[in-house]
Amino acid sequence: MEILTKIADVQKLSDKIKNSGKLIGLVPTMGFLHQGHLSLVEEIRQHCDVVFMSIFVNPLQFAPTEDFDRYPRDFEMDKKLAESVKVDYLFYPSVDELYPNKQKTIVSVKDLQNYLDGLSRPGHFDGVTTVVAKLFNIVKPNMAIFGQKDLQQSVLVRKMVEDLNFDLQIFVAPIVREVDGLAMSSRNVYLSESERNEAIHLLGTLEFGKNMFLTGERNVDFILDGMTAYFKERTHAIIDYLSINRLDSMEPLTNFYNIDSFAILGAAKFGKTRLIDNVIVRKG
Ligand code: AMP
Repeated sequence: MEILTKIADVQKLSDKIKNSGKLIGLVPTMGFLHQGHLSLVEEIRQHCDVVFMSIFVNPLQFAPTEDFDRYPRDFEMDKKLAESVKVDYLFYPSVDELYPNKQKTIVSVKDLQNYLDGLSRPGHFDGVTTVVAKLFNIVKPNMAIFGQKDLQQSVLVRKMVEDLNFDLQIFVAPIVREVDGLAMSSRNVYLSESERNEAIHLLGTLEFGKNMFLTGERNVDFILDGMTAYFKERTHAIIDYLSINRLDSMEPLTNFYNIDSFAILGAAKFGKTRLIDNVIVRKG
């Protein structure tokens, strides 16, 4: 595995690889890798010849009040893990390399960010789509892969690719979970033991809502009230949102008429740690 830190080197290398007729797949990450990230490498490898992974904790997607400075980083461990799944090239730029001057061009996908994390974290998705657009122009991949863990992010990136005619394919991979069901996340290391024990109830709450639907409940507010009660009975965490949303527009559902599939999503703060999760429900 080769490590690259300079944009110009990556662009040159990408041209060379593509001129030789090979397909490039990109796995964008913020590092502190876990099995969720590695599953993306394994999935995209099925579709391409050369796998690039980027590791970049993107300051543009963190609000000043958020955890940019303390976001977990361990490049030595990341190198080993990336190597273990045979990443071919690791792009590991500095903040100065990606943002040598104040970034004045922002890629902002409208409407889709009016809900959920877009509401709770103003500016977050503009930071995400801007850095992803930059990575696409640097690595020039034929395909890129994102996790369902960040469902709204994947929907926004797909829309950006469509609207800006990026010539690449987007894959979305399933959520990889710990044995007890907690969605793997770099931020899980922040959790104290008691928070970790409570964190599992985020998925439990989403499953509870899903089961209400599957057993015939069709009142959205009733399901959300049931989920809220379930969560509050089991945790001390502060709910940011529990929500049932369309998969295409990310809009919250008010009823289930003419809906074939939808997502049940949750975000909550366990102590200082904000976790998100979701389940997708398909009718029939
Ligand atoms: P991050 O490093 O958190 O920005 O995540 C990088 C990519 O990995 C994103 O596309 C995430 O959606 C994806 N990802 C993070 N956690 C998981 C997980 N538990 N399962 C699958 N994909 C994940």
